[in-house]
Amino acid sequence: MDILYNSTRGGSLGLTASQAVIKGLSDDGGLFVPDSLPSFDFELSELTDWDYRETAYRVMRLLLTDYTEEELRGCINKAYDSKFDSEEIAVLRKAGDQFFLELFHGRTIAFKDMALSILPHLLTTAMKKNKEDKEVVILTATSGDTGKAALSGFADVDNTRIIVFYPKGGVSRIQELQMVTEKGKNTCVVAVKGNFDDCQSKVKEIFNNVKLKQEMAEKGYVFSSANSINIGRLVPQIAYYVYAYGQLIKTGEIKAGDEVNFTVPTGNFGNILAAYYAKLLGLPVGRLICASNENKVLFDFFKDGIYDKNREFILTSSPSMDILISSNLERLIYMITGCDPQKNLELMTALSKEGRYEISSDMKARLNDFVGLYSGEQDVFNTIKSIYEKTGYVIDTHTGVAACSDLAYKKDTNDKRKSVVISTASPYKFASSVYKAIKSDSKLTDDFAIIDELSKLSGVKIPPAIEEIKNAEILHKKLCEKEKMEALVREELGI
Ligand SMILES: *Cc1c(COP(=O)(O)O)cnc(C)c1O
Repeated sequence: MDILYNSTRGGSLGLTASQAVIKGLSDDGGLFVPDSLPSFDFELSELTDWDYRETAYRVMRLLLTDYTEEELRGCINKAYDSKFDSEEIAVLRKAGDQFFLELFHGRTIAFKDMALSILPHLLTTAMKKNKEDKEVVILTATSGDTGKAALSGFADVDNTRIIVFYPKGGVSRIQELQMVTEKGKNTCVVAVKGNFDDCQSKVKEIFNNVKLKQEMAEKGYVFSSANSINIGRLVPQIAYYVYAYGQLIKTGEIKAGDEVNFTVPTGNFGNILAAYYAKLLGLPVGRLICASNENKVLFDFFKDGIYDKNREFILTSSPSMDILISSNLERLIYMITGCDPQKNLELMTALSKEGRYEISSDMKARLNDFVGLYSGEQDVFNTIKSIYEKTGYVIDTHTGVAACSDLAYKKDTNDKRKSVVISTASPYKFASSVYKAIKSDSKLTDDFAIIDELSKLSGVKIPPAIEEIKNAEILHKKLCEKEKMEALVREELGI
């Protein structure tokens, strides 16, 4: 059966998966959702025979129904290959009595690689299928992780170009080095004199500039974004939950059919939503624990049924989760309205006008699969330290937020089901915070010196992603005023 995609706000109806991948966001501002959800057409016991690529194929084909087997396998093979520093792609580890699903074995050592390695291939395949012969120009504003993951994903992919803007002084030294040393010939990285919000709103302005769009079309270009609301990012993320489940069966930790919980460090709500889709497709999932840092909008939402972004924005040691508007939550809201685009639109309008909305008790009753928890900075640091001291395993700060909630949940509820903590970044990516958590009296300040120390401490080899940037040549030196961003895009494209 063909799955078609509709906007959560009722505007566009009946797009094929490949059309939804090209479009990204619906014109009415809504997100694309499948019009029905199929069930697994395989037995859970079969999972133990499949490697990551096979699992990804079996899962993704259920939702991306207009891609042929050859197309989909082609995309998967190009994405999940030796770019990853582990053949398993996603690695399930046990430390003490906690399980960690490591999603940071890709190029940029954070979980965004899981989706951004494959999105460029899903997108270029979609262009071909839909006889779009234009060159895709990806425009992204980044506060750190997404920029490099998108650059790596799109680097040297035919018929694509990518331009990334980041706030000068607003990303970590490691993150900046990762971006400005990017070698892909179709990439362009620009530092902007301004903060992340400046970059983000200018990029949106450029996207919505009708005149520019026209001029681009005449030159054979079309804009797209690598934003996390694209179903081409969401669907591939379902696969690793299914894969992790297979690994738990394989290692004898569970029997096929046993329920497991997942604890997910959450920002934009994309990762945990993929887990929910896995459950709806038939994965035996108990609870989904939504772990937030001190920006605990989602914790409050799950507790009171009120989403309220009117609050202080707190900078934490888990910056990729410092978010007040979780854009993928809209898909869940749509589902708990009983798929009522009008009701969803009302709530989203309230969010953009007043920064706040409240759901009905009927809607709240449909959130039983979720538990919202949050952790303060000190608790996260203590958790990182105690896991290291008890097991020798070193986790990053984002994973630390989840590990902390995972332990709290087990203690509070006595839920005996196995639970898996989703590990979203390598500790080397946030080395100074991680090192400070473990060695609070350390006086080291140089990132690379800290990385060396961390390696001694954990016994884990420094990943190639870090080794590479240590001595790599700086290839991108552009710095611009925020008012000059559009001019720069024009110059880059020769229009
Ligand atoms: C993006 C990111 C998250 C948050 O994931 P969402 O899908 O936005 O909820 C968590 N940890 C790291 C390291 C990330 O880069």
